[in-house]
Amino acid sequence: MKVNPEHSPFPPLVDAFGRHHSYLRLSVTDRCNFRCFYCMPRETVAMKHRDRLLRYEEMLRIASIMARTGVDRIRLTGGEPTNRVGLDTFIERLAAIPGIRDLSMTTNGSRLASMASVLARAGLKRVNVSLDTLDPERFRKISRSGRLEPVLEGIRAARQAGLLPIKINAVVLGGLNEDEILPLVDYFSRQADSVILRFIEYMPFQERRFKTVSASSIRRVIASVHRLVPDLAVPGGGPARYWRLGDSGLRIGFIAAITGHFCSTCNRLRLEADGHLRNCLAREQSLDLRPMLRGGSDDAQIIRQLRRYVATKGSGHTCRQDGGQPFEGVMARVGG
Ligand code: SAM
Ligand code: SF4
Repeated sequence: MKVNPEHSPFPPLVDAFGRHHSYLRLSVTDRCNFRCFYCMPRETVAMKHRDRLLRYEEMLRIASIMARTGVDRIRLTGGEPTNRVGLDTFIERLAAIPGIRDLSMTTNGSRLASMASVLARAGLKRVNVSLDTLDPERFRKISRSGRLEPVLEGIRAARQAGLLPIKINAVVLGGLNEDEILPLVDYFSRQADSVILRFIEYMPFQERRFKTVSASSIRRVIASVHRLVPDLAVPGGGPARYWRLGDSGLRIGFIAAITGHFCSTCNRLRLEADGHLRNCLAREQSLDLRPMLRGGSDDAQIIRQLRRYVATKGSGHTCRQDGGQPFEGVMARVGG
């Protein structure tokens, strides 16, 4: 059989600890129509100039090179990915890359009502929607501008478009929205056939501005009212630990990024919108791919740099609930 040289495999991206990297999180923009106060500090929101952001063509090239090393999952994120014009055509071309079997997106949901069906037709398989409260006034405060209702409509549209299962990501901030845990469980219990609700521990970026509520204490709040049984079979896998509600059957995931480090199984690489590749969410040390892309490097040269960079990945972060080193950079650029 003749192998197309554009598709011939490269060796996998493996680091010094034997971790294979098969998952790329692609931040398509550093812009966002919200300014969630735990994600985008008001004072550091200076956006990169448009010329410094990768073009779709350049992102497609990196995605194709990575697919040849065995990366088979891509998640679009941001900033807010639906902010970038031409997303549907980009998704269509990403979905056509040989080897990519899972293409998903993390979004604030505010534009899904009009975009979900177009994106699904383009080849998007699933969405994660971020939602930390069901109270419109609190929603406005957390997002520093957004409206709740379009997000709830967006979730309905995602269901109709078959972007399933929809994972709802809720960050729990100590003293701020802990009282939303049970209302979120009740609300999404009515959509248990299509939704998985996930609670994420707050990760302090640069400084510890809020209290991290541990995944185990969130689980205790739910277990004080509902019967919870462990659940394993969740598409997309990842670091979340899943349980199922005895009554409604709603699946609930807990992402214990701070109290239950899962660095030893990390398979992720993160490409920021300006071309900086990060091998760790917690560390800013990155590989700038833009000069290579714009300076005429061929695929073999890029892959050499990728392999060298992945080999430098540290064993894991040291941030804990009560100390250790906070994460570096700005979450709204890395994309989670
Ligand atoms: N704009 C999209 C959204 O809101 O889903 C995608 C980008 S956002 C940075 C990705 C995810 O990171 C969201 O689910 C958001 O709640 C989460 N996030 C942001 N800052 C966080 C923090 N400090 N700790 C934990 N999760 C955070
Ligand atoms: Fe924007 Fe998402 Fe960050 Fe909120 S969490 S500011 S919606 S990037």
